[in-house]
This record gives sequence, C-alpha cells and structure tokens, in this order.
Amino acid sequence: MEFSDDKTNNLLLRAATILTMVPGQKAIDNGALLIQTTANGDRIKAIGNYHSLQNESYQKVVDLGAVTIAPGLINAHTHLEISHLAGKTIGGRGFVTWLKSLVPHLEEPPDDKALADAVNEMRSSGTVFAADMAARHAGQLAHSLQKQTFAHWLMAQHFGFAAPDSKTPLPLTSGEISAPEIVDYDNFCRAGHAFYSTDAATLQAAKKWDQQRLRPFALHMAESCGESELLLNGRGELADFFRDAGILPLDFVAPGCSPVAYAEKLHLLDKMTLAIHCVKLDQSDIDTLARHRVNVCLCPRSNSFINVGRTPWEKLDKAGVNLCLGTDSLTSNYDLNLWHELEFLLTEDKSAMDFPTGLKMLTINPAQALAINTDYGTLEPGKIAAWSVVPEIFL
Ligand SMILES: [Zn+2]
Repeated sequence: MEFSDDKTNNLLLRAATILTMVPGQKAIDNGALLIQTTANGDRIKAIGNYHSLQNESYQKVVDLGAVTIAPGLINAHTHLEISHLAGKTIGGRGFVTWLKSLVPHLEEPPDDKALADAVNEMRSSGTVFAADMAARHAGQLAHSLQKQTFAHWLMAQHFGFAAPDSKTPLPLTSGEISAPEIVDYDNFCRAGHAFYSTDAATLQAAKKWDQQRLRPFALHMAESCGESELLLNGRGELADFFRDAGILPLDFVAPGCSPVAYAEKLHLLDKMTLAIHCVKLDQSDIDTLARHRVNVCLCPRSNSFINVGRTPWEKLDKAGVNLCLGTDSLTSNYDLNLWHELEFLLTEDKSAMDFPTGLKMLTINPAQALAINTDYGTLEPGKIAAWSVVPEIFL
C-alpha cells in the first residue's frame, strides 16, 4: 500500500479504546488511527496510542469520545433482494412451513426502498461488508449496492436440477438471466442454494468457476431435519414439497449420506467454501468440515425464527473450524444488525461463547473465509479504515 506524504489527505481518528483484532495484540487505550484518503479508498496509515501519533501530519482530529471501536463488521450471509418480504413468512413451525409461506411471494419484485433501508440498517449498525446471496434480481441488487457504495460479494445462487451438459457446462443462474452482464462484475461469485434444490453437477461446476478465480463458494448446508432425511433416503416433508413443486426430479436418487458427507464426495469442501447453517451435524460431519478447513456461517436467529435447532458451534470451534456469523434475510430474522446476532448467540441456551470469540466471528474470521482479509477484518496499516463502535452491553 502506497501512502503519500501529503497531510491534506490525512485525518486522525481518536477513540477511548481500539480492539484491532490482530492476533496477539492487546486493546489500545486512548487509541488513534491515522487515516489517509488514497486512490484505493480511505486506508489506515498508522495505528497506536493517541500520544504516539499526535505528532504525525494530518489535517484534523475526529474524536469519537469514550467509545470502544473494532474493525467494521462483516455479514457473512444475507439475502437482501427479499428484504421487502419482511413480516410475510410464518416462523416457529419448522422449515417447510416457513418455505411454503415464502415461496408465493418470491415473484414479487424487490423494491429499491426496501433494499436501501436494509443497507442503511447494516451500515448504521457497523457492518461494512456483506456476502449476499442473490437469486432472481442480481442485477438490481448490484446496482443498488454500488449506488450506496456498500462493499459486498454478490453470490449468485444456482437453483434447480437442469444438469449441465457439454453445450452449457454451467447453467445460468436466474440472476444471470435477468442481467447477463453480471458475470463480468468484479464482485460476482457463484453459489449454490442447497443439495435438495440444486443439481450436484451444477454445484460442482459453480464451485470450480469460483475456484479458478479464487473467489469464495457458498452453499446452504444441513439446515433442517428434512434436508438430512431427503439426502439419506429421498423421503420426508421437504422431499414431498420439492417433488410437488416440480423441482426435485421424480427419479432423484438419494446419495444415502449426510449433507456434509455428500459435499465431501462431490469435492465441494475446501478453505474457500462457506457452509451456511450447519445445524444438523454429527461428530463425523464436524471432523470432515475441520479436515477440509471449511468455513461455517452460523445464522442463530434465523435458525431460531424458523425453529430448526441450533448449530453445535462449541464442537465446531473445538475442532478448529473457522466460524462466521450472518443474519440471513429479513424473512427469517427481525433485523440485519450483527450486534443483535451476537447478543443472541452469547445468551442463547446459556451459551458458553465469550465476547472476544464472538467478535472474531464478525471480523477476522469472515474476512478470511470470504478472501477479503487484505482489506477487512482487522485494524492495521494498509487496510481499509472501516470500523464499528462496540455497544456498551458487551463491555
Ligand atoms: Zn440463506
């Protein structure tokens, strides 16, 4: 990162305490960030105690007062394009009931105001980056996020059982159909919806596409009992729902294993894969995820809203799995505020999670999982000057 000596581009940001999230680094009391406006955005030029940076050259001091700041937060899983459907789904009665209440609304186009409100809500609660899974309206979403200058991965979700063939090695996502130019978008990745809704060969091709470009690949995995049952024996309420909807082929052959074991069989697991939810896991699944260094995104409030159970994060953590947090969409959550997500996780089931571990799941961990750690995840020289203010409840 090249910094100039021109002090007119510099400002000194002061805060009572800075949590840099750099491994091994202690909190900086009476801290300051020297921030420079560069061609690559506002970057951290130096960080340290206020008195040690006071003699640097800068144009002004911005004093945040008696607050603790941390790196800007990263939402590892959202679906912003369905933000306008908030309040229209049925929670508390399991995955299929929730899905049945959502599907009839999916034809409704997103409205720009709901998208803008959702982004504003994230931004105002300290979120600076979102890994957003888009389906039908990827183009509109990209436009909205660009307009609001909100950093993101647009993870276009493959869905359906139209298997790739030699002519079309990778079927289009519905997002590409509505905006074909989206594929050339720098923030574009391919993602999969889930094994119960999407052809295995398509998921493999999507993963390969991301792999070739060193971009993260995300997939909903092991979210509900119905998913486990469908993969084990092809039966159950979720299988019936997807067969009746004409999505799951009548000749679908269940792989006869867990979602995680199936993902391993299909070579979808590595350190650039983000497995979302991972509620229904046994120890063998946990070992598999750890062995392949897969990143797991927990969405605890969404799982609670739908009532599918909770992710055994303690066991994943013990196995060394890189854990992240996501809000999921407003159709299975009350807001997109990651601090609320963390508060829920710290208090649910008398959770043994502590705040420092939880804060990693909002900063350094997702930065690594999403391959954005040269810019985000910690406060240190060279990185984007994106910070969040830690609510007092955690301190
Ligand atoms: Zn999701």
